[in-house]
Amino acid sequence: MSVGKTGKTRFLSPSNGLIGLIRGLGSGILEIAAPSRCAGCQKPIDDQTDTLCAACWEDLRESLTAAYCPTCGRDSGPYAIIDSRCQRCRQKRPRITQVVRVGPYGGVLRRLILDLKFGRRTELDAFLGRLLAEAILGNPLFTDVDWLVPVPLHWRRRWVRRYNQAELLARAAAAELNRQDRHVRVNADLLRIRYTPPQTSLSFNQRRLNLHRAFAARPDARFAGRHICLIDDVTTTGATLNAAAWACSKLGPRKISAAVVAVAAND
Ligand SMILES: [Zn+2]
Ligand SMILES: [Zn+2]
Repeated sequence: MSVGKTGKTRFLSPSNGLIGLIRGLGSGILEIAAPSRCAGCQKPIDDQTDTLCAACWEDLRESLTAAYCPTCGRDSGPYAIIDSRCQRCRQKRPRITQVVRVGPYGGVLRRLILDLKFGRRTELDAFLGRLLAEAILGNPLFTDVDWLVPVPLHWRRRWVRRYNQAELLARAAAAELNRQDRHVRVNADLLRIRYTPPQTSLSFNQRRLNLHRAFAARPDARFAGRHICLIDDVTTTGATLNAAAWACSKLGPRKISAAVVAVAAND
């Protein structure tokens, strides 16, 4: 992939398995930034129809091409991926069969996520949702996904924030997938039934305990026999996704995958 003079992506190196990830990005989703400002760095940009400046597109391109474990989404780093698993996933098989991501949690991707999550720039959901859709389209293991299931917020947190960023992302991704003839729907029947403190300051084991029975799927959620794909903005230890998957698994889905915008390193 290269970045043209307007900063739009042209193509992606075929070697990394992420072909087409940002295919078509650049135009059509461009009204999200304030006029002539880059949504990533806020610097003025020449092409007022573009979302990002050339430098931010370049930063994003590097994110997209970073190698990661297809089972947990973590950076594969210096460790070999064997049978689609990193060393960690080989030691303990996760409940989620496979993960796609847009990139690691850093740089322009991190800024866009924080703006979506806390800056109340909910219009970024269209841009990030489209990136997520392209990640899903680029992975053949996700062709039979039936439901996109956003990781829910507890109603108290949602009431404060007024929206669930994972649900905005799921809806934007589903719209893009359907536009590209991949028919999936959003299923919001996974609920957060227990209010839990924020995970950020907790260790891996504390996170797991914190999330114990935090989620439940509505008994009439049509998960049985389906391939469901959990959607979230960021995952760090995978504890939230795992707890959500555990709740979904009670209803007998065929497979549980996850698609996240970014994966943060936790060590
Ligand atoms: Zn920029
Ligand atoms: Zn892994």
